[in-house]
Amino acid sequence: MKITITLHCPHLPDTTIHILTNGRQFANGNYAEKLKEVGGDNLLLGIPIHSDSSLIHDEITKIDNSFNETIIGLYNLAAFGISVELRIVINKLNYKRLPQFSDFIFKNLSFVSCVSFMAMEYTGFAVRNSQQVWIEPTEYVANLKEATLNLNDWQINSSLFNLPLCLLPQELHLFARKSISDWKNRYIDVCEKCILKKDCCGLFSTSKKIFEGLSTSKFHRLVYEFEVE
Ligand code: SF4
Repeated sequence: MKITITLHCPHLPDTTIHILTNGRQFANGNYAEKLKEVGGDNLLLGIPIHSDSSLIHDEITKIDNSFNETIIGLYNLAAFGISVELRIVINKLNYKRLPQFSDFIFKNLSFVSCVSFMAMEYTGFAVRNSQQVWIEPTEYVANLKEATLNLNDWQINSSLFNLPLCLLPQELHLFARKSISDWKNRYIDVCEKCILKKDCCGLFSTSKKIFEGLSTSKFHRLVYEFEVE
């Protein structure tokens, strides 16, 4: 078994190396150990986990036993002191159990460095499987709020990615990140007068449709009413 990490930035020895992986290979403890040997303390692995339910996770990955392999991999990574970011892409199959999922993370995965909840981009497979997976943030925001505040109460860092501020209740704004890269980020007309624009991630320019609810948010109304007065 050989793992090679090639660095092109030797002048940045303390830079964190963020690796995205499904984590299943780390069910083999030797693999986690080798990664630690070559990566040292600068690694952060972003690993998707889709639910606290193995059935839902495996349904999303379409790979039998992938939940079990990922969980074992997470424990092996923790055993070798490798930092992990859990990545949860919110979709129609997993949104109902977000509060239970937060409880599962607290009880079983509290060693992770952070939890990232991510809104879907409406492109590629999301479009092709829209009926099965697509859900609007307005439909899941209550569950997301409960899960995020649970994790916060339990002192597990969490962040919200790709979610415009006007779709989130105010209690969640401090968890929202300006996460969409410049090259695929856009704002729509109503954003131009929005007081939250400088802190808001906006929308994916690559999405084939925009989220519902943006133009009727209370923040738009607040700005509008302020201007009228
Ligand atoms: S109106 Fe636009 S800038 Fe304002 S919060 Fe919503 S998406 Fe963000």
